[in-house]
Amino acid sequence: MNTQLVTAAVALKARHTELREFPMPDIPADAGILRVSVTGVCGSDWPIYLNDKAGPRILGHEMIGTVEMLGPLAFERWGLKLGDRVALEEYLPCGHCHFCRTAEYRSCPETDAQRFGAVRYGSTPVNKRPSLWGGYSQFVYLHPRSVFHRLPSTDVIPDRIAAMALPIGNGFQWAYLDGGAGPGKTVVIQGPGQQGLGCVIAAKAAGASCIIVSGLARDADRLDVAKALGADHVVAVDQQDLRAEVERITSGRMADLVIDVAGGGPEIFNNSLALLHRLGVFQTSVRRRAPLNNFDIDQLVTKQVTFRGMRGHSFQAVELAIRTMEEGKFPLQRMTTHLMGLHEVDAALRMVGGQTEERSIHISVDPWKA
Ligand SMILES: [Zn+2]
Ligand SMILES: [Zn+2]
Repeated sequence: MNTQLVTAAVALKARHTELREFPMPDIPADAGILRVSVTGVCGSDWPIYLNDKAGPRILGHEMIGTVEMLGPLAFERWGLKLGDRVALEEYLPCGHCHFCRTAEYRSCPETDAQRFGAVRYGSTPVNKRPSLWGGYSQFVYLHPRSVFHRLPSTDVIPDRIAAMALPIGNGFQWAYLDGGAGPGKTVVIQGPGQQGLGCVIAAKAAGASCIIVSGLARDADRLDVAKALGADHVVAVDQQDLRAEVERITSGRMADLVIDVAGGGPEIFNNSLALLHRLGVFQTSVRRRAPLNNFDIDQLVTKQVTFRGMRGHSFQAVELAIRTMEEGKFPLQRMTTHLMGLHEVDAALRMVGGQTEERSIHISVDPWKA
């Protein structure tokens, strides 16, 4: 029997976490324990934090750490040893459904946090044993179906950079693998948050010819970072007309790919169609939770536009993000704005939710920080 205690920030009710201690679990032969170095705070943590229907849980699903314990079967299957450094995905895919078999496990029913009873890091209640399902904790349970990526040493990729493996992985998935950003392409990215900046990195790495990033005037710092990461032009949409700017920058050719990671109202759909030339692609990751009125279907048809929802990432996308970090060609440290402890998880989540004056791009939580 293990007597060690694990400290974690537990979301007890909406907008409220408290530090709690859990016994270090005994692990089955096919599982393990991760010692968390840092966990990245994701925009999607905010709606999870507001929703307390599932009961108390440890949030945080973008985990970096080292292998602390490993059952004998996990040792054989995973090819990991104690002390190995990994990035953990939020998903626990089933491994045998159609989507898992075709390398699309982000569509596996088991990875869908919206599905009742699905087990996923950062949104599974602590009453499901062994409780350690979230990254805002000193240790996390490595489920037999966990998906991890091997990482080089902290000299090559520091923890706070590694903690962006999933948002930058989303960028590679959305802008490059799904969106087809590449040589000759003009890409408009609406929203300079961590996902939007991930798309900038991916589009640049893929060789896109022209990258335009839009935001609001109050996003000036983020738009500066977008430029440092490779954006050719930035547009503050409350000061400039985005359509006119895209027309001017492209000499009327308009964009091949428009990505919406900004939120905002439904007018963004018709406005985005207007930014595309024929055969363009429009992609959004933002749920509106309401039907869309006045959508300009004629423009969609006339231009033969592809309209695509974006969600999550593949294994390959996260590997591309990690290779990019390893190469060190991008000033990724410009994105890492905050490092906070477990006692500051509420403050971190409020900042990500846009509830504070102070703004962040990417926050890491270090569960060992005093
Ligand atoms: Zn996330
Ligand atoms: Zn599956």
